[in-house]
Amino acid sequence: MKNNIFKSFRFEIVLYSLLSLFYTLLTIAVVHVGVYIVYRENIQQLSGTSTVIISIITIVGGIIMFIICFLLLTKKFINYIREISEGINQISQGNLSNRIEIKNEDEFAFLADKLNQMADDIKEIMENERRIEYSKNELITSVAHDLRTPLTSIIGYLDLVSSKELNQETQMKYISIAYNKSKRLEKLIEDLFTYTKFNFGEVKASYNEVDMVKLLNQLVDEFYPSFAENHLDYEFITDNSVAVIRADGNLLARAFANLISNAIKYGKDGKNILINLYKKKDGIVITITNYGILIPSEDLDRIFRRFYRVESSRSSETGGSGLGLAIAQSIVEMHGGTIYAKSDLEGTAFTVELKNEPLN
Ligand code: ADP
Repeated sequence: MKNNIFKSFRFEIVLYSLLSLFYTLLTIAVVHVGVYIVYRENIQQLSGTSTVIISIITIVGGIIMFIICFLLLTKKFINYIREISEGINQISQGNLSNRIEIKNEDEFAFLADKLNQMADDIKEIMENERRIEYSKNELITSVAHDLRTPLTSIIGYLDLVSSKELNQETQMKYISIAYNKSKRLEKLIEDLFTYTKFNFGEVKASYNEVDMVKLLNQLVDEFYPSFAENHLDYEFITDNSVAVIRADGNLLARAFANLISNAIKYGKDGKNILINLYKKKDGIVITITNYGILIPSEDLDRIFRRFYRVESSRSSETGGSGLGLAIAQSIVEMHGGTIYAKSDLEGTAFTVELKNEPLN
């Protein structure tokens, strides 16, 4: 709000004081003229006492007149101050939707505008707090649920093993199931730790020159046993033998490991996995494509949310935590990059776009 001196409170007060003075002088003049007309004939005979009395009446009348005029002219300020205090009262009682009307362009209007802004800010802060509280509760509920499921079956199988009637073969089978479930639990807890560390800003990237062609080659080598176990071929296509960017190699390796392990988990039916890297002017684009069950279009954005899984039954078979993509997204965004998915008859593709230089 601009400060215009002619519309300011100070200017109006000076103006109203002058107006009040003017009205007062006018009234005194009128009274004097009246007295003169009435006593014109014998004005010379007015005693000294009468003159003093008339003068005192004129002064007192003038002062009263000035006060009345001033109060009448400044009444609108008093009313506006009342409205503003009522507005403050409403805010303090938690009624943050209440708005103080902005009148004029003076200091009071400026104050009212600031109070309205303050109410907006408090409202936003409170809504944020509520959202954080809600998402914390949601996180706790999901974690409790996800930890309980494998834990219940581990306890169940270990209970069975402890019963003496089972033969050794069955006991071994149950122990192996309990072991696999424990491994799943361990992975879930590890993912959860990583995710919360990212969310609380505890992970700091340390940027170096990273050759993404080399990094991806190393990763697919590490995944070789997993590819073989799932009877999958892979192809890494790039028209560059080197693609250097400034990045945190360990973090990016983690993000791409999540994407490749997903491609293996969810692309088992598809025979092969394609990894594509090409350079563009200000960065690189890497796409990992698998073939298999498609992700419904309405889920394409949601899969990046923590704990979100498409068709939870199918994904629980694959033992996912629902955090892999959320972690990958945090890492990519930390580098100032973007990640998105597409899924159609040409395959399910996760594309990561990274800049040559991270943003910070
Ligand atoms: P999860 O631990 O369940 O794999 P993610 O966050 O990694 O959790 O993935 C979320 C969901 O997105 C998965 O449950 C799965 O339904 C879907 N998804 C992720 N990657 C792929 C992929 N490459 N192909 C098909 N679906 C996928």
